[in-house]
Amino acid sequence: MRECHHELLRWLQPLDVAVHIDAAGNVRALYPAVHPDAPRLLIGSHLDTVPNAGAYDGILGVVLAIALLEELRGRRLPFAIEVVGFSEEEGVRFGSPFIGSRALAGTLDQGILNVRDARGISVRQAIEEFGLNPEEISRAQLADETLAYLEFHIEQGPVLEKLNLPLAAVEAIAGQSRLEFTFMGRANHAGTTPMHLRCDAIAAAAEWIGAAERAAHEVPGLVATVGKIEAKPGAVNVIAGEARLTLDVRHSSDGVRTRAVGDLIRQAQEIAGRRALSVRESTLLCQGAVAMDGFLIDEIQKAIAQTGSQPHRMVSGAGHDAMILAARVPSAMIFLRTPGGVSHDPAESVAVDDVERAIACGLYLLDQLASSPEFYTRTNRA
Ligand SMILES: [Zn+2]
Repeated sequence: MRECHHELLRWLQPLDVAVHIDAAGNVRALYPAVHPDAPRLLIGSHLDTVPNAGAYDGILGVVLAIALLEELRGRRLPFAIEVVGFSEEEGVRFGSPFIGSRALAGTLDQGILNVRDARGISVRQAIEEFGLNPEEISRAQLADETLAYLEFHIEQGPVLEKLNLPLAAVEAIAGQSRLEFTFMGRANHAGTTPMHLRCDAIAAAAEWIGAAERAAHEVPGLVATVGKIEAKPGAVNVIAGEARLTLDVRHSSDGVRTRAVGDLIRQAQEIAGRRALSVRESTLLCQGAVAMDGFLIDEIQKAIAQTGSQPHRMVSGAGHDAMILAARVPSAMIFLRTPGGVSHDPAESVAVDDVERAIACGLYLLDQLASSPEFYTRTNRA
């Protein structure tokens, strides 16, 4: 991360910006406005990534923000631009995502400092070892005169490629439910137990997995995933007595999502009951959907059209820093097409033409916002 910061600072240096690293490890670079006391627009994304990652998730949004400053070539706008490179968005090291953006939004609770990584190093120690002061995290909060937050990010999915479109405005970030289900049957001998006398936990789980997949197919925009299954005792010649599996359900409407989760819980009970098994479930995560700002979505659509592309609006199935910032300031995202829909993998890529178009879109957007009276009235909403 230190090398990453070093590289960014090298690119930022010729741009006449005031740079600092805040106490949560975020890179902050302020490009001044025409007037010194003008409000500011935040543009950013995250600098961290996952193990065995690609080269674009997160960092592309920060590089694009810097590219926009370069393209302004010293031209001042009525608002300042603060480029932010967020720390710890993925939550890989401490199991707690969005540490950097929560520090900006002021929603990071003090307990986070005591959370430890796999080697027993706490967030507090990590911040100190990086040369920062964890006691100053509250000072990382975004300035009162912040107009909006804007984030460029790769789509990380196949939708734009399928539509043959380079860019889209994100209209909402989907809410998520994560649950764990345990089907409890009776382990027994695979050879001597007739089929009609079994309480097979894996067979019940399998029936339910199929039902979950069919249910998601029937509701537009709904995605449901069983990503993990564990069976006990786990032997080739033993009927499984217990099957434990996870469920991940996402949708842009919280109502649709919670109804789907309720239906799947009822189906699990029905399947278990019919097979003389029992089932219990527990909720691991229940996170509401976050709408992006309507005014900014419209302006992004206009800017995409200015580049000669067909505008498109879509829901993000993945979480992003923008959903954390949206609690404090009007926020919006621009997605770039992801070849093959591949992300969180070294094969992750972007097309140079699409990046060029994203920069053009960003410049149109900056000019639109600069001349929009409505944009400035929005500052008080923060
Ligand atoms: Zn990301």
